[in-house]
Amino acid sequence: MADIGAAIKKYPFGRIQDLLVLYELLRRDGIDIDDLREHVAARREAIARSVQMRSAVVSRRCPDCGHRMPLLPVNTGPRDQTGDDSTAVWICQRCGHEEWTDQPIEFIARDNRAGKRGCKNG
Ligand SMILES: [Zn+2]
Repeated sequence: MADIGAAIKKYPFGRIQDLLVLYELLRRDGIDIDDLREHVAARREAIARSVQMRSAVVSRRCPDCGHRMPLLPVNTGPRDQTGDDSTAVWICQRCGHEEWTDQPIEFIARDNRAGKRGCKNG
């Protein structure tokens, strides 16, 4: 018989218990390990796309000094309320140049990517 203690010794006990609970739920719902792998792969792709979108948003250059201007979302929760309809602000990390926007962040990301393609072609 396999040495269970040696096989699982590097995992915290709570994770082993979580695994048993998950295993029972999957078995009950007729989900096998390949279904689970597929689901996890799809989630990873969705997260990677989301990260790509955000990195496209933050790659804009400052019109004053040319430095990188990250886009910081605002009005997303109680801690970053601005008292207006802004969705985000571009802030230059070198000179402090600010540009506020009320466009949905998804639109900004799309326009930003379109702008980069335009630059390459033009
Ligand atoms: Zn600047």
